[in-house]
Amino acid sequence: PGVGELLTRAAAAWPEHPAVCETGTGRGLTYRQAEAAAQAQARRLADAGVEPGDRVALRLPTSVDFVVAFFGALRAGAIVVPLSPQVPGPELGKLLAHSGAKVVVQRDAEEELPDGVSGLTPASDSDDGADFADAGRAGEDIAVVSYTSGTTGPPRGVMLSHRALLANLAQISGVEGVLEQDDRVLITIPLFHVYGLGPGLLQATAVGATTVLSERFEAQRTLDDCAEQRVTSITGVPTMYAEFAALGPDELRRGLATVRRMTSGAAPLHPKTLTAIREATGLDVYEGYGLTECAPVVTSTLVTGYPKPGSVGRPLPGIELRLVDSDGTDQTVPLDPDDVDDVFEAEGETGLVSIRGANLFSGYWPDGDHGPDAEGWFRTGDVGYLDTDGDLHLVDRANDLVIVNGFNVFPREVEAVITELPEVAEAAVVGVVDERSGEAVKAFVVPATGAALSEQQVVDHCAAHLAGYKVPHAVEFAESLPHSATGKLRRTRLR
Ligand code: ATP
Repeated sequence: PGVGELLTRAAAAWPEHPAVCETGTGRGLTYRQAEAAAQAQARRLADAGVEPGDRVALRLPTSVDFVVAFFGALRAGAIVVPLSPQVPGPELGKLLAHSGAKVVVQRDAEEELPDGVSGLTPASDSDDGADFADAGRAGEDIAVVSYTSGTTGPPRGVMLSHRALLANLAQISGVEGVLEQDDRVLITIPLFHVYGLGPGLLQATAVGATTVLSERFEAQRTLDDCAEQRVTSITGVPTMYAEFAALGPDELRRGLATVRRMTSGAAPLHPKTLTAIREATGLDVYEGYGLTECAPVVTSTLVTGYPKPGSVGRPLPGIELRLVDSDGTDQTVPLDPDDVDDVFEAEGETGLVSIRGANLFSGYWPDGDHGPDAEGWFRTGDVGYLDTDGDLHLVDRANDLVIVNGFNVFPREVEAVITELPEVAEAAVVGVVDERSGEAVKAFVVPATGAALSEQQVVDHCAAHLAGYKVPHAVEFAESLPHSATGKLRRTRLR
């Protein structure tokens, strides 16, 4: 089967069950209506000349429109290229040219597009799709080309096959306590990113749950939405949970009263956030680790069933993980939790995280370059280590390494120490050029609301907890830090 069949099957099994609703507008569709709208969308795309294998770009926020356009494009056999509706003109032109998209689904069909690319509006269930037959793409056929957020370099189009996306859903479903049919899942993160799309929308559709969608996250309003919409599950990112926590225990208890499960991914979740939410509500936030290239989830603390501050948990069933040296030689063996104790007497041996599994991508668009190697392994750019329980800890991205007098400093370690200060809401660390030491550590710090904090306090706290070369030489206070749409720090911008 293909990814599009998730909706067709849900519509057959639970036609009158709510598939999706929007918090802002109150607009919603049952599974039967969603399926009808997707068929209408497929018809509209086919009428515009879209044939199986053609690229269709979506430029839509997290909304009913996105869901309809996504499943409609798949039904027409297209390769979906989900883009941020905020992508500015010149970059949009580049991405459309790179992907070779013929059609863009956007809310305003007249909005200007490059020559040769036509705009179409999202369909609704009152439009006529007249049983548009599914194009039948599946398996190794590419379903989605997802452009990575570009936090470290030029965007690359990750080719995700129907096989990869469905494999990741199957791997997720092998873990206890994931979504069920009576769940109401809040998604305010972008659906154009595979984290919102896969473990958010597609997983919910696979089990016939209801997604509660919102175009924008705004802590107080979103928490109100959770209560009003009786949300049971949240697929979110660390910045969301940190902002929820900042509203205080009473608001957390009120807003999260019907919630039973929260997951976080895309960037490190600070233990302080985990603790604040648990103390207020008794609820845990389960952290996962993923990459677009892995369609996307690799590990989760849901695998063991207990969150462990600072760890991203263990690989999902069906995914192999190992740590390799930067020259590619094996540093450890495949992770089997039962054998881990024999292999790792001491924690802390770091290596580049390598992944193997049916969820892996098919290389980068258009030629499939740099995909998994001949043995099926994909080497991420992330440095990590396994603790003595066999749980993965991410140290940082290899690319973000700062080298001070020849010593390695991983920004995330310094950020985690600074964030321990109760006066600190968020911290970011980058390397800056330094005449004497090559690079020096610089910290950007966002103080907690109403907190008084000096540069010296930050430096003293670091000096008490870190080796001298890791202590920031400069501290700059900021009102906020630059983040990507999924809450990742944009370190390049800070640099
Ligand atoms: P680009 O490669 O263009 O910079 P990107 O790497 O941001 O884009 P994504 O696929 O969105 O593309 O992000 C994957 C990365 O996010 C991982 O490699 C890892 O560094 C980071 N990440 C994901 N989950 C976590 C987590 N729980 N904790 C820390 N980092 C995480």
